Amino acid sequence: MEKLTLILTCAGCGKRAGFNQNKLLEKINGTPVVKKAFDAFYNLGVFSEFIVTTSKTDFDEFNRILDGKATIVIGGKTRAESVKNALHVATGDIVLIHDGARPFVTKKIILDCIESVKKYGSGITAIDSVNTISKIDNDGFITETVGKNNVIEIQTPQGFYLNDIKRAYAFDENSDFPDESSVYLKHIGKPHYVIGDKCNIKLTYKNDFTTPSVGLCQNYEFRSGVGFDCHKLVNNRPLILGGVKIEHDKGLLGHSDADALLHAITDAILSACALRDIGYYFPDTDAKFKDANSADLLKTALDLVNKQGFKIKTVSAVIMAERPKLKPYIDLMKENIANILSITPNDVGISATTLEGLGFVGREEGICASATAVICKI
Ligand code: MG
Repeated sequence: MEKLTLILTCAGCGKRAGFNQNKLLEKINGTPVVKKAFDAFYNLGVFSEFIVTTSKTDFDEFNRILDGKATIVIGGKTRAESVKNALHVATGDIVLIHDGARPFVTKKIILDCIESVKKYGSGITAIDSVNTISKIDNDGFITETVGKNNVIEIQTPQGFYLNDIKRAYAFDENSDFPDESSVYLKHIGKPHYVIGDKCNIKLTYKNDFTTPSVGLCQNYEFRSGVGFDCHKLVNNRPLILGGVKIEHDKGLLGHSDADALLHAITDAILSACALRDIGYYFPDTDAKFKDANSADLLKTALDLVNKQGFKIKTVSAVIMAERPKLKPYIDLMKENIANILSITPNDVGISATTLEGLGFVGREEGICASATAVICKI
């Protein structure tokens, strides 16, 4: 069984990204880029050695983030020099070299790359170029059209037998190769390429961290939930909906303040997380919740959602009430709900409808609300 080594190149400081720290320490969905890239290989369970190149400045931070799982090697002035330093300590039979700034590498890419090394002696991840590739001079002119047929754009990982790539680098002690495929091509032979993925981008500029295309690559996890509630209308109770006190001759009956709208929204956000419902967390048999302010219950539910690693994106609700007219209160409700959920009123949709005199709502015996919520991974 051949032993696999990963070399993750992280020695550059990522100046072009313009952050005030190494771009690899920036977080995507709460995880530093370097850890996301590292985990893609580590979690596969097929590698037995991990080497990460870094600058002296980031040595301690990388060691902390990677939890001592990797041998951390100080890089050189160039990528080639850093890789050579890492190859010097590598002991595997096959080595995959990967950019720390490509955190979206997939399991398929990694396994294909390893297979290619076993079959062809090398595996270079690449994608077909959809753009015409040309060479340029320093004066702003195109000097040669390479074309787009039979042209590929090279990514990483790039895999080799350790001895081959060490031998290739040994020929050129001081050359600055852009990547391993070029040094292999020069000294060993034609490297074999494997189809990568356009999502496997190299985070280079600040924009790369925020553009929608990267958003898709980040596997943003969106989930939705639904909630419904209904309370009886009785005399001598205040009518509260969406946390707003509404002028009316009747109010909703309940153990808490009976705010059916907030209850429906509470159930929607809990349900989106696959958590239990409002009655489970705030039972009406518990004296603690007697006359409870439903805004507090919603806030507590939000804490539960946040603890699961999600935040609210939008909520949308419909109130079913025959009377009174709710139009004057809708904006206030939106503002209230947005404040509780740490979103903006633009993220809260509320509509109100009568039931045309039909059923218990139509007979003004009760008011219902139903809500949906969209949440996403923090
Ligand atoms: Mg209720």
